[in-house]
Amino acid sequence: MSSDVVLINGHVMTVDPINPVASAVAIRAGRVVHVGSDADARAAAGPRAEVIDLRGRTATPGLNDAHAHPMSVGQALLDVDITPERVGSIEGIGRAVKARLNGSGPGNWIIGRGYDQARMTDQRHPTRADLDAVAPNNPVFLYRACHHIVAVNSAALKLAGITASTKDPEGGTIDRDEHGEPTGVLRESAIGLVHDHIPAPSEDSIMRALELAGRAFLRTGVTSTVEAGIREPKEMSAYQRLRQSDSLPVRTYLMMMIDETLEHMAGLGIRTGFGDSWLRIGPAKLFLDGSIGGRTCRMRQPFEGEAENVGLWMEPPDVMKSKVIKAHSLGFQVGVHAIGDAAIDLILDAYEEAQARYPRQDTRHRIEHCSIVDFATIRRIKRIAAVPIPGTSFMYYFTPAYLQNVGAQRLRYSVCMRTYAEQDIIAAASTDAPVVPVSATTGLGMMMSRTDVNGDEIWTEETVDLETAVQAYTWNGAYASFEEHSKGSLENGKLGDVCVFETDLRQVAPKEMKDVAIDLTISEGRVAYDRSVG
Ligand SMILES: [Zn+2]
Repeated sequence: MSSDVVLINGHVMTVDPINPVASAVAIRAGRVVHVGSDADARAAAGPRAEVIDLRGRTATPGLNDAHAHPMSVGQALLDVDITPERVGSIEGIGRAVKARLNGSGPGNWIIGRGYDQARMTDQRHPTRADLDAVAPNNPVFLYRACHHIVAVNSAALKLAGITASTKDPEGGTIDRDEHGEPTGVLRESAIGLVHDHIPAPSEDSIMRALELAGRAFLRTGVTSTVEAGIREPKEMSAYQRLRQSDSLPVRTYLMMMIDETLEHMAGLGIRTGFGDSWLRIGPAKLFLDGSIGGRTCRMRQPFEGEAENVGLWMEPPDVMKSKVIKAHSLGFQVGVHAIGDAAIDLILDAYEEAQARYPRQDTRHRIEHCSIVDFATIRRIKRIAAVPIPGTSFMYYFTPAYLQNVGAQRLRYSVCMRTYAEQDIIAAASTDAPVVPVSATTGLGMMMSRTDVNGDEIWTEETVDLETAVQAYTWNGAYASFEEHSKGSLENGKLGDVCVFETDLRQVAPKEMKDVAIDLTISEGRVAYDRSVG
């Protein structure tokens, strides 16, 4: 396949401040060789280049999702889809499980995701009897949409040793019939009794998952992403094998979990930046706190209506701080999950202390999610030159829960893309998929409209224009991985990664952005996704 291509007759948003809009872009041998007029671009691309007529559609640099979990995105895609959109009854679930069994040997686990008894004709959870009828010899484990309830069959209960005499674990329930026998429905902590017996995915299965996830990212225009947590050798190995066989679908920046990987990498002298344009060692990663939805992120003030609850720390603050300082001292960029304002205070303290003790140029330490901030914190982020990675899609899906849990006032600067831009703070857009879908247009639309999943607006003071939103989803992500010299904008010499939207985005109302499809995703001059082909 050719990697020479010229896109003409379009609305090309270059994210290059010197040359922000063009009608054409030429890519030769995978690199941008001209951005400008149709005639000049055609000439630069050479006679053998494939010509794509944009017919006025918008093209941007390939999108960059600055925080996601591709391995988990793909694992979820490997599981049986039993969402209400796919199955409407327990019988339908049975058919879906049976179809998966056909390709699977006895004893292999069948995992399904997404049923909702309220949206099925039966109006009840599947029971072990329902599932035994279709899968007598394979353990079956089906997540309800919320993941707080599962339905399993007898083979799964047996492997977990759950019988009528098993007591409910603390914080969980084993549903039982009138004889006290488990029905197969497990709630909250009881889920772990079975879940702990599901074997971890093999290296081959991780590779399959990454290929599926990569295709999902390409369908939404994303050519670069971040894997927010490598813990195990087989994960690293799966990524490397895909890279070696040229089948890694999207460029991936690997966040390396401090507890599991820092010593090993330090022992080899590896640090942030090692790798190539497809696969690169990224920051050392640590979790400081939990989530707003679960009321577990660490807050300065209690959650709404819960005077005692300020959330939790993953570990004692001093321990986490010293881990961050250590990673910094070893030459790593650091990327820390910090959602509550108290957690963000702690990480800024840690970054300051690290820099004071081990001064280093251009650290670009990241704050993953960076959800609850006030203006003073923003000034501090600016002073430290930290890089916020706000959950632009979180804001779309979770604003209703955020309002309940922390109230509107504490959300004033949540995902404040306009304030960040005004303060010259480089904040990169992200999904955290599969926590929310991979869709990039959801995040673009959220930044531009500040409209949530219910259609309600939240702090519209923070709306941004199309150019700022696209920059957050391209150049800013490249900056967050030290790669803005090679990607993130369409300029001569940069990687030929392009996203072609189905229409001219200037004609799309901000609230409608989320519904815009991607027609083409081009990676290094090759068409990696074409909507007309599927
Ligand atoms: Zn994450």
